[in-house]
Formats: sequence, C-alpha cells, structure tokens
Amino acid sequence: MTEKIGVVGAGIVGLAVARELAGARGAEVTVLDKEHQVAAHQTGHNSGVVHAGIYYPPGSLKARLCREGVALLKDYCARHALPYEEVGKLVVASTRAERPLLRALAERARANGVPGILELDALGLREVEPHAVGVAAVHSPHTAITDFAAVARRLALDVAELGGSVRLAHPVRAVRETAGGVEVLAAGRRLTFDRLVVCAGLGTDAVAAMAGRPGDVRIVPFRGEYYALSGAARELVRGLIYPVPDPRYPFLGVHLTRHIGGEVLVGPNAVLALAYEGYGWRDVRNFRQILGWPGTLRMARRHWRTGLREVRGSLAKGAFLHAAQRYVPELTAADLHRAAGGVRAQAVGRDGGLLDDFALDVHGRVVLVRNAPSPAATSSLAIARHIASLVPASVR
Ligand SMILES: Cc1cc2nc3c(=O)[nH]c(=O)nc-3n(C[C@H](O)[C@H](O)[C@H](O)COP(=O)(O)OP(=O)(O)OC[C@H]3O[C@@H](n4cnc5c(N)ncnc54)[C@H](O)[C@@H]3O)c2cc1C
Repeated sequence: MTEKIGVVGAGIVGLAVARELAGARGAEVTVLDKEHQVAAHQTGHNSGVVHAGIYYPPGSLKARLCREGVALLKDYCARHALPYEEVGKLVVASTRAERPLLRALAERARANGVPGILELDALGLREVEPHAVGVAAVHSPHTAITDFAAVARRLALDVAELGGSVRLAHPVRAVRETAGGVEVLAAGRRLTFDRLVVCAGLGTDAVAAMAGRPGDVRIVPFRGEYYALSGAARELVRGLIYPVPDPRYPFLGVHLTRHIGGEVLVGPNAVLALAYEGYGWRDVRNFRQILGWPGTLRMARRHWRTGLREVRGSLAKGAFLHAAQRYVPELTAADLHRAAGGVRAQAVGRDGGLLDDFALDVHGRVVLVRNAPSPAATSSLAIARHIASLVPASVR
C-alpha cells in the first residue's frame, strides 16, 4: 500500500518537502495549512534574495543546503518559467575597521564554493554600484532574486499533479502518535498518516507541543520592517547592497534589495515581536509564551543595546534612512515610504543563544523542522531532499 505522509505548513519548505516525498518517494502526501492561501507568512514576506552561500560556516547545514538549494532552485525556475535574475550582491565595508570581517567573509564564501567572488576597493565597488560608497566590498555576481511566493504556488501545483493534496484553511489542532501511525485533527476532521513532517514556521512550538515534543529551543518572532524607494531613487540601486554583518547575529543588517518587478526595498531590521504573527507593534497576543521562555529574557539582557537600536529604527524613519545612507548617501527622507514587513521564526535556546544553523528533529513518526530561517527559502529544495533522506520509508 502507498505510504501516507502529512505535512503541516504550506510555506516553501513544507511544499518542497511534500513535492519531494510525493515525487521521488511516491508517497500519498497531504499538506495542511491554517491560512486560505499558500506562502501566507515568511515565504510571502521576505527579501526575495537567492543567497549564494557567502555567510555560513563551512560544513554547516546552512552552507551545504544553501549551495545545493541555489542549483536546484535555478534549474526549477528555468523549467517552470519562474522569475530568476542574477542581479549580483555587494557586501560593503563602510569603515576600515570592517575590513578584516569583509576579508573573512570572502574566504568563507570561497570555502563554501560560491562562484565568482571578487574583492573590490572603493573605486571597484562603484563600477558595480555607481551610487554606493564604502572603503571596500565583496562582490558575488551570481547572487540572484526571485519571487518565493510564486515558487511556492508552483510547488503546490506539482504536489497536486503528483496525486497529493494541499488543504488550506486546515489549522492543525491536535497530533497524537499511535502504534500504527500519527493522528491529526484539522478543520474538525481526524486524519491518519504513517508519518508527519512539521514545517510550521512561526507555529512550530504550538505543533511541537501538540505532538508532545516541546524540545529545548523555542521560536522567538523577529519582525522585519521595510521601506520602499520611490520613483527615480530606485535607479540608485542596480542589484543588492548589504552591510558587513555583525557576526554575533544571524540577521544580515538593513540592506537595499532590488525585487522582481523593479521595486527596491530597504530593510529588514530585526525587532523582537510579542506575537508569533506580530506584523504590527500593537499585536502582543503571545507575549506570555514569548517572554515566558527563559531564553527570550536572557537574549534580551545580552543584546539590549542592539535591541534598543532596532526599536529606534522601527519607530523613527530617520534611523532607517541613516542606515541606508551609509551605503547610498544620495538617498533622502522623501525617497523612502513604508512597505509591508515580515516576521522571522528564529529558534532561541534556553541560554538565550540564537540558533544559527538549520535544525531538524526526528522522533518516531514525526519530523519537526525546528529552525528554518534565512536562507531556508533559497535552500528549500535541498532541505526537502535532506528531510526525505532522514525519514525512513514506512512499511505498510
Ligand atoms: C523579513 C524576512 C526576510 C527574509 N529574506 C530572505 C531571503 O531574502 N532569502 C531567503 O532565502 N530567505 C529569507 N527569509 C527566510 C525565509 O522567508 C524563510 O526561511 C522561509 O520562508 C521559511 O519557510 P517555511 O515554509 O519554513 O515557513 P513559512 O513560510 O512561515 O510557512 C509556515 C506555514 O505553516 C503554517 N502553519 C503554522 N502553524 C500551523 C498550524 N497549526 N496548522 C496548519 N498550518 C500551520 C503557516 O500558516 C505557514 O503558512 C526571510 C524571512 C523574513 C521574515
């Protein structure tokens, strides 16, 4: 009999996993999502950058699955006429003090096999981005942009074509592992699977608790806010302009990104949110769970200065503009207007440490994706292969 696999979450990771299990494995796959459309959360609210693999420690899951994911995604976009543009990325050092970090980044990128990496001086970087300033830069010419929500919609079609189903408006309310399978209660119906893969992003902790696997990390939501450049100011940015990231954080710092369709966004910052889907300041629905996790307060104590700076940036356009002008000084306040933001699902340990790498747990019949922050959209097709390799086929 055909193996039955349930997947919680119709973001890009859940849909890629479902497609892999339905295609390569021939399983009968059902994807469940609480929203009325696919890609409703992180997948539909991000920078749209296909990261080349510059930042991640060599040998980490992020480094490996990002490189594999780029190749798979580029090919997938070509086969399905999905947008994929190699606009290139500049990581810019704006002070001499940042030079050693920039040099280390270039070495890391080469160690990860990122093609075409070039180290540029102040003049060289202006040949790539004529309106950018800095003392030096690393150029990654093959870093690309795409529309991850469009990729997710195509993956959902693939799942259906492979005989699976994507059931929207199906919030998972209960999970019970039995001797013979996994029972899931969703939209008032009891469904039984041989295995369940949980790719619930911001909803991970809730589903993990239902499955009796709370684990030793928790999702802490970080809102990422953006401004969009208007009119002629868009012409000041050809591709992607990034700062040298602070190695203490997994976030990359406010950057300027050209998007499919020509829009240029400035952002995202990283502000601790008090609701898992806390897209606005006023939403504090989950403050008890978020502040109740000891790791949240330990993290806040350790990083309070950065936290305050991010809050200031969130409240005052001036602070945001200042961050962008550091790289493109011609920008003025009139060039920036608020754009829609996103919320990152970032796993935080009990000790307050932000989990840097992707993290997956396999327990009995349930696979939990515990941490799939950026570059998980880039890496989604490779994450799917990795998960399929970890899940033993059920004998029915
Ligand atoms: C601001 C921002 C910028 C980013 N920029 C980039 C970038 O440029 N490049 C990149 O590669 N990555 C980027 N990322 C990261 C990337 O978007 C995520 O890593 C990726 O989308 C994760 O996909 P996912 O499927 O795991 O999560 P999601 O897309 O969040 O999907 C999870 C799904 O689970 C569903 N769900 C949750 N709970 C339940 C439940 N109980 N029952 C049913 N369904 C449930 C949700 O409705 C949701 O649809 C960015 C993220 C953010 C927020």
